[in-house]
Amino acid sequence: MNKLILATHNAHKLEEVRAILAPLGVQVLGAADVGLKDVAETGTSFQENALLKARAAYEQVKMPVLADDSGLCIAALDGRPGIYSARFATEHGGYPAVFDEIWKQMGNNPDRTAYFICCMALVTGDRIDDYHLFTGKMSGKIDDHASGTHLFGYDPIFIPDGYTQTCGVLEPIVKNKISHRAKALSALVTYLGQA
Ligand code: IMP
Repeated sequence: MNKLILATHNAHKLEEVRAILAPLGVQVLGAADVGLKDVAETGTSFQENALLKARAAYEQVKMPVLADDSGLCIAALDGRPGIYSARFATEHGGYPAVFDEIWKQMGNNPDRTAYFICCMALVTGDRIDDYHLFTGKMSGKIDDHASGTHLFGYDPIFIPDGYTQTCGVLEPIVKNKISHRAKALSALVTYLGQA
């Protein structure tokens, strides 16, 4: 495979995937490069959403497609906001307003553990049922205040295991080695190296 469409309009994700797949000789194009239409995320799991995005994109371009779905799962909230992480933030005033809602819902629950998860779906061939899933997880805990200047999503309130600072404080080069997305991509790279 020498060309792959990443079904995203997120420039940050596109750059990250491009940089990781370039050494494998895989050129990565984004949704905007090929005029991909957005698809409603109607799945009930990260896997389902990633797969439905990849399949919808494949139907449009008939080329290998990678799509991802990610989110934050908080133990004290029974795994929420989960697949609704982006929507939850929008519904509660965006970032940082949504952090207050999270702290409110967590209350005094002593369990502050949470994890980010990323699921990537690769649809490669001319058979629509020919797909591969890659999942990565970053475990940690929810801090009781927001910190840092790297303001992507829930980063300012999430401290990864093994660290004392939030992802809002940690340099992107550090986060990008341990993140859920990096781990899913690493599984993809292993697969592409073997394929
Ligand atoms: P999506 O995968 O683009 O649908 O993103 C889902 C949502 O999960 C994002 O809008 C963020 O709210 C959250 N999210 C996913 N990954 C991260 C991350 O690495 N840091 C902070 N928030 C994230």
